[in-house]
Amino acid sequence: MYNTDDIYAALKGVEGPDRVKSLVESGAVSGVNIRDGKVFVTIAVDPDRAAASEPMRLAAEAAIKAIPGVAVAMVALTSERGPEARGNGSGHGAQRPMPNAEPERGVGLENISKIVAVASGKGGVGKSTTAANLAIALARLGLRTGLLDADIFGPSLPRLFGIKEKPELSDDGRSLAPLEKFGVKLMSIGFLVEDDAAIVWRGPMVMSAITQLLREVAWGQLDVLVVDMPPGTGDVQLTMAQNASLAGAIIVSTPQDLALIDARRGIAMFQQVRVPILGLFENMSYFLCPHCGGRSDIFAHGGARAEADKFKVPFLGEAPLDIAIREGSDHGLPVMASAPESNQAKPYLALAEHVRDALAQGSREAGRKPKIVIG
Ligand code: ADP
Repeated sequence: MYNTDDIYAALKGVEGPDRVKSLVESGAVSGVNIRDGKVFVTIAVDPDRAAASEPMRLAAEAAIKAIPGVAVAMVALTSERGPEARGNGSGHGAQRPMPNAEPERGVGLENISKIVAVASGKGGVGKSTTAANLAIALARLGLRTGLLDADIFGPSLPRLFGIKEKPELSDDGRSLAPLEKFGVKLMSIGFLVEDDAAIVWRGPMVMSAITQLLREVAWGQLDVLVVDMPPGTGDVQLTMAQNASLAGAIIVSTPQDLALIDARRGIAMFQQVRVPILGLFENMSYFLCPHCGGRSDIFAHGGARAEADKFKVPFLGEAPLDIAIREGSDHGLPVMASAPESNQAKPYLALAEHVRDALAQGSREAGRKPKIVIG
């Protein structure tokens, strides 16, 4: 088995940023992390040279991948000052994500017709549960569907789908083959790291990891890829929204006012980067009693509908706070897979129908766009 020394030895053969010294001698390697066959490396470069440093990043990745036993290599450029450059007062903050270093929009995603993000202003509102049930429902509607867990801070896809296996390399030997369950192709950083392994993600590594999960996975031909976004509206979400050419975003919120304030931030973020908001979905909207089947509006139910009206975005429905939904998502059997005809599954099926129709509509409108002819 290889160790950190082997990684450094491999990187000695890669030209550093000044093209004179090797990457290792230049002191630009700012972090090496090995975990379960996966190697994560960060290289500090001048932010202005981010795009120009892309060949170096690729060369470093190739050198690490060539080490026997390395299954996955992720190399990210960071704007953290290298030891030599430190203290020169240029004012660039450490760990700033560098979108310039990202591949062009759409590269590596040619086989995916539409990418839809499921987002929320904060964690714990049921975003992942919604994304999982939506993906299964879309597959049941006959769409070739993938689900990418981009919530790398708290990947929940392995738990939601009850998956313990690890993905294999695909036939081309360069990308990972997604796992498949309930008719959906699945990928999550949670498949690659040990349970509960505390990964301290630094800004640029986050972007690099998400980009690789998106582009270096053999998704095959997909009609729709559902992306379970990290919660919140930070740089990561913004860059992801910009880089992945999203066809639309669904914002999940609970009815409480506080969650809705966060939902508003989510809407604003997607609008800022011109990603169409497919609508607002209210989760844990009302309580369904498991004993009598009765419904109680324990929160100020209907908040999301009012909010959707206010922002002139579609209201996509509401799922109850329900023990079957909770047990399903915590035991690897989402309600859409275990009881697709049940009352609990209905809101997700309706959501999927809405998403399918909105995407088809979007394609028709894109096709109808008037061409500007000059001359
Ligand atoms: P998020 O992705 O927003 O952090 P999760 O989907 O992981 O949220 O859900 C958080 C917790 O709430 C999980 O334990 C999940 O089972 C539970 N949960 C989600 N939606 C519902 C629901 N409609 N009814 C009951 N429990 C739910």
